Amino acid sequence: MLGPNKTGFIEKEDPKVGSRDALVRPLAVAPCTSDIHTVFEDALGPRENMILGHEACGVIVEVGEDVKDCQPPLTKVSGL
Ligand SMILES: [Zn+2]
Repeated sequence: MLGPNKTGFIEKEDPKVGSRDALVRPLAVAPCTSDIHTVFEDALGPRENMILGHEACGVIVEVGEDVKDCQPPLTKVSGL
């Protein structure tokens, strides 16, 4: 969401991973009805440069030190 009634793409800094966080690179993100309300019906109040799309799938890039249930996929080693 770039602003009220306006959507598009912007670049953002990678977030810092906290001890209980996972950083996920999205592969597919779907808009939700709540996103429509946010952008076009002012459901959360005026916002700018807000990332939408909480319904997604992706690949884990990094996890925090306290995360034990998931890890980034193993990296393929060349020559094997
Ligand atoms: Zn939803």
